[in-house]
Amino acid sequence: MSSLDNLYRSVIMDHYQSPRNKGSLENPDLTIQLKNPTCGDRITLYMKLENGKINDARFEGEGCSISMSSASMMTQAIKGLEYNQALDLADRFSKMLLGEEVEKEDFEDLEALQGVHQFPARIKCATLAWKAMEKGIKDHDHNHEHEHHDHDQK
Ligand code: ZN
Repeated sequence: MSSLDNLYRSVIMDHYQSPRNKGSLENPDLTIQLKNPTCGDRITLYMKLENGKINDARFEGEGCSISMSSASMMTQAIKGLEYNQALDLADRFSKMLLGEEVEKEDFEDLEALQGVHQFPARIKCATLAWKAMEKGIKDHDHNHEHEHHDHDQK
């Protein structure tokens, strides 16, 4: 195993054993639950939104080291991002897992998960938290359009 693999492994284990932003959030704007049935990973993602930005993000759940470390890294990475920035990060993160070349300048710890692309069965573990975030943001945007629509009719 190369020293880079060792470094990546220790970053993943650090997030798994000492997850960042683990726990629930009071009065979250979004609560999204997702499962990865192929591995048994479960996540509940809580987000606070303000002025088009993700103000806070926390998660609860259980699963393998890949799914939980990815959730920990994600909550760290998306705080303070605008929705489209968070979705762009999710997009590049997924592409990295598929082995595509992407801009990784802002990845920091996320880069440690790039080795997952050698294990296609585990990609769903790594993207679980990200899919929850994407679903939450997209549903929220959709509901917002409806709110505006309803408002116009009143
Ligand atoms: Zn898993």
